[in-house]
Amino acid sequence: MEYAYDDQNIFAKILRGEIPNKTVYENDHALAFEDIAPQAPVHVLVIPKGPYMSLDHFARDASPEEQAGFFQAVASVCEMSDLAEGFRGISNTRAHGVQEVPHYHMHILGGRPLGRMLQP
Ligand code: AMP
Repeated sequence: MEYAYDDQNIFAKILRGEIPNKTVYENDHALAFEDIAPQAPVHVLVIPKGPYMSLDHFARDASPEEQAGFFQAVASVCEMSDLAEGFRGISNTRAHGVQEVPHYHMHILGGRPLGRMLQP
């Protein structure tokens, strides 16, 4: 698989500080911020700082340090948010996954019952 990262995507612009965001957590390798159109009381996006397009790209090509930093950010967001009753982590990928922004991100959704994962 060839991954051609487009650095004009909106999350790349957020990482460069060209577009504002509501940051909830940041470390050397990852940024977490509020989704602009929340679909649940908790809706945070966690993104790596490196140029990865998707979950499979990040899983294949990111360094162990980048991957550890990303998941440490996921853990911190979960700890900081009110998610004791549970949550859902979603990484939509390419066309079938209906991915709109081609920079890898994990949605952390919670704060209410979310229903089944997919509609029949
Ligand atoms: P996806 O379909 O998984 O690529 O989802 C992209 C998500 O990014 C959507 O939930 C959007 O609401 C969210 N989004 C788009 N632009 C921004 C922005 N400037 N700040 C925060 N979230 C955004």
